[in-house]
Amino acid sequence: MTSQNPVFIPGPTNIPEVLRKAVDMPTIDHRSPVFGRILHPALDGVKQVLKTAEGRVFVFPSTGTGGWETAITNTLSAGDKVLATRNGMFSHRWIDMCQRHGLDVQVVMQEWGEGVPADRFEDILTADREHQIKAVLATHNETATGVRSDIAAVRRALDAAGHPALLLVDGVSSIACYDFRMDEWGVDIAVTGSQKGFMLPPGLAILGFSPKAMAAVETARLPRTFFDIRDMARGYAANGYPYTPPVGLLNGLNLACQMLLDEGLDNVFARHHRIAEGVRRAVDAWGLRLCAARPDLYSDSVSAIRVPEGFDANRIVSHALNTYDVAFGTGLGDVAGKVFRIGHLGMLTDVMALSGIATAEMVMADLGLPITLGSGVAAAQDHYRQSAAGSQRAAA
Ligand SMILES: *Cc1c(COP(=O)(O)O)cnc(C)c1O
Repeated sequence: MTSQNPVFIPGPTNIPEVLRKAVDMPTIDHRSPVFGRILHPALDGVKQVLKTAEGRVFVFPSTGTGGWETAITNTLSAGDKVLATRNGMFSHRWIDMCQRHGLDVQVVMQEWGEGVPADRFEDILTADREHQIKAVLATHNETATGVRSDIAAVRRALDAAGHPALLLVDGVSSIACYDFRMDEWGVDIAVTGSQKGFMLPPGLAILGFSPKAMAAVETARLPRTFFDIRDMARGYAANGYPYTPPVGLLNGLNLACQMLLDEGLDNVFARHHRIAEGVRRAVDAWGLRLCAARPDLYSDSVSAIRVPEGFDANRIVSHALNTYDVAFGTGLGDVAGKVFRIGHLGMLTDVMALSGIATAEMVMADLGLPITLGSGVAAAQDHYRQSAAGSQRAAA
């Protein structure tokens, strides 16, 4: 049986019907000019979403994880020192990948629920007078904990230290959900994937490379073949790929960018913020707490919700699926069993969010948690009524 309910996992996200249709394409000759008419507008669209004028966009048949590998293998060499923080499962996995590639990772350990410590980074970068650190890694939105980090502050830390390291940013669950400014923040590589803010099926690693990152490619010596952006750049110059491109997904990406830009990025971000805030009000009404330590860290794409001590949060996720056919996210790594996650990114409306909040209430009540049915829904309704998207649209 297939469920018609929206999913509330923090990716893959719900796919708008028009994008499902755009991805479902008859075969075309990917070496013909027809393909160029899909590829180039898609790359241009991504540039606008990343807010980069000078960066170059590369899209691989892969996922966000392949995007991490593309970022490090194209710009670094074995033994290079990189600076990163571990504050959740995704930052942890990127660090692990770097170590497996023979990079020397200086890891700043953070509590899960905290963000990237820009001040600690500034101290470490300032002390690195010989500029041994070649890259700084930052996870913009830590999807495991629902924490948003301040990338502009990481850039300020690099600048204050007068440090030339590359700034590599995982924006897999932030890009196209909330504000991301590649050029303004001096991001050298932005990494994302197709199945989160872009509302598409999984299958694409999407990257922006700054001119400085493009220059680093020439001296980087980590082995790379499939993910070598020099081959990809030569392919693009000839309207193609160095191998068979995922044409349907690229067609979808082109349309997804158009949809985001037509809605207006600021409106997309405002929608995510409004929906997220409704979820947060519901959490508050339930008497529960977020994993994110402080309001300035709250993510607009996912909320990780702490359950009472001694209660296994995974029961919420499995009961929701078994009883109501609704998917929430489980806790990962250090917070497994301690949190469940409500993903609120991608194609979502206030009304869809209310159904997720209502389901979470039924589940928690079924499992004996002290939840008053309707309490979270009412808190979110209040917020959505006050900030109604529809009335804004009607007034516009
Ligand atoms: C989803 C996600 C990834 C991994 O992406 P895959 O597409 O699963 O490889 C990496 N980083 C963050 C922050 C994510 O949310």
